[in-house]
Amino acid sequence: METKPLVAVTGASSGIGEATARAFSAAGHPVLLMARRMDRMEALGLPNAVLRQVDVRDRDAIAAAVRDAEESFGPVDMMFANAGIARLADIGRQPPEEWDEMIDINTKGVMNTVHAVMNGMMARKRGTLVMMSSIAGRKVYPDHTVYCGTKYFVHAVSESLREYLSAYDVRVIVLSPGVIETEVLSGVLDEETLANYKNNKVKMGGGIGADIVGDLILNAYQLPQKALVQEICLTPTRQTY
Ligand code: NDP
Repeated sequence: METKPLVAVTGASSGIGEATARAFSAAGHPVLLMARRMDRMEALGLPNAVLRQVDVRDRDAIAAAVRDAEESFGPVDMMFANAGIARLADIGRQPPEEWDEMIDINTKGVMNTVHAVMNGMMARKRGTLVMMSSIAGRKVYPDHTVYCGTKYFVHAVSESLREYLSAYDVRVIVLSPGVIETEVLSGVLDEETLANYKNNKVKMGGGIGADIVGDLILNAYQLPQKALVQEICLTPTRQTY
């Protein structure tokens, strides 16, 4: 039987990361799952899975997890730099500590994740990086200020990486979802912002399922290595903002 390459996901303990891990696992890939909540990753019960308690702010921990998984399953062929938090808030009253957290996890965490696999992919002239941005990395919202900043960062880095890595046949896909039903809102600590977000969500008839995102990433990955879906912008049909 053909052995499929190893894929790695940060933020695999819930939401889009979990759904993507499930999709690749169902397609027969061994998976490296990274997040802070081990119990949630264990509960998935995926076969051929390496689970590591990793905070993406810890560059060495990501590198060690990749090394461990590669020893068992060979090189990481797809890395999904997905882990992130959305401390959405009115910037006028947001505690700066929330900016620190978002910047560290959503921007530096993404760079730490890419760093763990990029050189190996370049040497092999093969690989796929999937970078988690957001619709908030394409347009701004007045009560998402720093969150938008982190996602614009991911967009800019992804565009640059895509150009840099194209000569090495490494694909870079930037993912820009709209409202997806996950646990992401548990990170919104500002009550008024949360209430407004929920109202808007009701108006658009709710978000869409994380499994749709996971399946789409799998489809993009399964195209021949020569073909690159540069960006996936996926929203509920009724989302206009
Ligand atoms: P969830 O809250 O369900 O998932 C977030 C994941 O990130 C969890 O697995 C969490 O795991 C992990 N995570 C958070 N902080 C860290 C950290 N410091 N180190 C390691 N893992 C971490 O939400 P989503 O699935 O929605 O979020 C995934 C990504 O999608 C985020 O980057 C988010 O910004 C982005 N996004 C989401 C949208 C949506 O509408 N849901 C829309 C656009 C983008 P744990 O807590 O166990 O560490």
